[in-house]
Amino acid sequence: MESLFSARIKKVPRSFIREILKVSLDPEIISFAGGIPNPALFPLKELEAATAKVFAEKGAAALQYSNSEGVLALREQVAARYLHTHGFQIPVENILITCGSQQALDLLGKSLLDEGDRVLIEEPGYLGAIQSLSLFQPQFVPVPLAGDGVDTRAMAARLAEGAAKMFYCVPTFQNPSGLSYTESVVREVADLARKNNFLIVEDSPYGELRFRGERAPSFYQFLPEQTVLMGTFSKSVTPGFRIGWVVAPPVLQEKLLIAKQAADLHTSNFTQMILAQYLEDNDLDKHIEKIVKLYGKNCLMMEQVLAECFPAEVHFTKPDGGMFLWGELPEGMESMALFDYCLAEKVVFVPGEPFYTNNNPTRSFRLSFSCVNEASIREGIGRFVRGYNAYAAS
Ligand code: PMP
Repeated sequence: MESLFSARIKKVPRSFIREILKVSLDPEIISFAGGIPNPALFPLKELEAATAKVFAEKGAAALQYSNSEGVLALREQVAARYLHTHGFQIPVENILITCGSQQALDLLGKSLLDEGDRVLIEEPGYLGAIQSLSLFQPQFVPVPLAGDGVDTRAMAARLAEGAAKMFYCVPTFQNPSGLSYTESVVREVADLARKNNFLIVEDSPYGELRFRGERAPSFYQFLPEQTVLMGTFSKSVTPGFRIGWVVAPPVLQEKLLIAKQAADLHTSNFTQMILAQYLEDNDLDKHIEKIVKLYGKNCLMMEQVLAECFPAEVHFTKPDGGMFLWGELPEGMESMALFDYCLAEKVVFVPGEPFYTNNNPTRSFRLSFSCVNEASIREGIGRFVRGYNAYAAS
């Protein structure tokens, strides 16, 4: 069978996180690994009511095939949301509803990338983007992240070595680091994109989950003609619906639509209608407030316990929102080795490796604070420190 597989699929490994999630199914394990939203916050009753209304009012039309662009009412809701949260107007025609924002990556890869094309990506970067875009066999050009966003000097140096087609980034509460770009970094990257003619793919699944600090502008505000926006309802409503979107300039949108048609005809009409109904009947801001309150509390608690328990040479980021923080071990240690010591203590996290495009060992690791509480933070970090001490003593 091996000889029948495509070169493309043979080069891409299974998602490392999905493998870790299997380990964390053991009820005795405390997991800081999963990047999943807290299910206690899914608006069950409201979605149930929206479902009943869609059946009653739309009937069979909700169960029929539909257009590939997506349900108009939902695209209008997405446009209204950008106006509300960012203050800019997006033409509804530029919005394509996708099966989660993850599908937008696949459609962008299909529409833009040939083998060997250079793709700028943050280092560390979102592992799902690395996996998805890897199938198109590009040449990843990693650009390191600093505390205020991507390192624009390093980006300019990489561009001097050769042109790139796109820069994929998560500028707000990045996955995995929790870091956010400042306005000056956004402006500098937009300048580099303008001068070097590459697309900026701004992925923002966590942008609305802010518990402190101020929002920097979107790339769209400086360079709309070269910016692609990716968004999702996975973190604000529910990931199970698999509804996201991509905003692109019309010439690119046309290609994304062809890729979408070829991939799956359209995103589930039924779930799009339920989501549109939910958004019409409920106050999403109020719902997001609840999420932010819980994640903010968990993050502060985790920061405090980490500061109390870990020696100062282990560094952690201090995110202003989102679901993750990022740690870095002292020189000479490796996060994969730490993982084994921590697994023995029955606590897991995600070692840094899958967030890098090379396979070198890393000193970094990701901790998620979305699905924990005070007790599991205290107990889990306690175990984590025991694992760390055992590793340090080895
Ligand atoms: N982009 C980033 C940065 C993510 O963290 C995730 C979810 N882990 C996604 C995209 C995909 O989200 P979805 O497909 O559920 O919209």
